[in-house]
Amino acid sequence: MTPVGCPMADLKSRIVSSGFRGELRLGEPMANRTTFKIGGPADVFAVPADEANLAVLAREAHEAGLPVLVVGDGSNLLVRDGGIRGVVVSLARFDGIEPLSPRGAFRVGAGVKYQKLAYRMAEEGFAGLEFAVRIPGTVGGALVMNAGTPEGELKDVLLAAAFIFPDGSRRILLKEDLGLGYRSSRLPAGGIATTIDVLLSKGDPDEIRGRMNWLASERRSKQPQGVPNAGSIYKNPPGDFAGRLIEAAGFKGRRAGGAEVSSVHANFIVNAGGARAADVLALMDAIERTAAERFGVRLEREIRVVGEDVSPESRVRSSE
Ligand SMILES: Cc1cc2nc3c(=O)[nH]c(=O)nc-3n(C[C@H](O)[C@H](O)[C@H](O)COP(=O)(O)OP(=O)(O)OC[C@H]3O[C@@H](n4cnc5c(N)ncnc54)[C@H](O)[C@@H]3O)c2cc1C
Repeated sequence: MTPVGCPMADLKSRIVSSGFRGELRLGEPMANRTTFKIGGPADVFAVPADEANLAVLAREAHEAGLPVLVVGDGSNLLVRDGGIRGVVVSLARFDGIEPLSPRGAFRVGAGVKYQKLAYRMAEEGFAGLEFAVRIPGTVGGALVMNAGTPEGELKDVLLAAAFIFPDGSRRILLKEDLGLGYRSSRLPAGGIATTIDVLLSKGDPDEIRGRMNWLASERRSKQPQGVPNAGSIYKNPPGDFAGRLIEAAGFKGRRAGGAEVSSVHANFIVNAGGARAADVLALMDAIERTAAERFGVRLEREIRVVGEDVSPESRVRSSE
């Protein structure tokens, strides 16, 4: 129960009275919102109906001095066990795919699933997104991560993206302004991506589908299946593979609490049952220390770790 007079309940009523349309929840468990199935509660969890309502929400949170974090499908996120203070926004309702020209330009909502977009484009005979097969997540997350594989990345097909800023304003930025690199971007501070524009090329639907099926089966055989995870934990260091280094350091199958380094691919940590973020972080600390000591390599995290640890007081409370 959220006590009356709690700043989050106050923010909720302030947002509601501003005429906001969409869903608002207090204390939403982030374990329900991440592919790792890990993470404490978000103070406020909001699903705005559209861009205008996202702008209202962003402005209200900004005026109340509260941070805003966007969550796509949470497929690249580790949320700490104490959860997230402030406002977590889902753009699940930003789900449109709209043609901009018959030559293969489309405007895509940030909440559209990356894989769904790839399959839809294949059906319509547009090539260029085949690599996205079996990459979970939304188009918004794909923009932030420049998601891809050695076969391609979002940057290859992106033209521009639209953003809502903390003051509620909207701006469109071109690809060149977004600093997209290997699993990284430099988006404007506080910007929430609402749509992206992509340009694809005409192709034969059967051939596009064929390439996607082949890529899908390749990936299936090399990654853990049926256990919650967040994909690759680390980026590959130049000229090497993070998975190779982690395996060579003897971590395959290593456990901490409910978290386990996958025995299929050592750059994946899986939630083998009831894992907490603290378990995953314990494995990550050990991997990072060992890689530095044994190989002189500083592994760079691909997953984003967000939120707060469980405070010592609430740990005491929960064990009472
Ligand atoms: C089994 C598995 C396989 C994977 N394979 C690959 C792969 O081959 N290649 C690859 O690149 N990735 C891979 N990933 C990682 C992940 O799927 C991608 O990084 C994906 O693009 C993340 O999208 P998301 O919607 O889940 O983003 P989230 O994890 O929800 O968020 C990622 C980051 O983006 C921010 N964000 C999300 N949406 C927005 C928005 N609209 N505006 C502003 N910020 C936003 C979040 O705040 C966060 O910082 C894999 C993951 C899994 C679980």
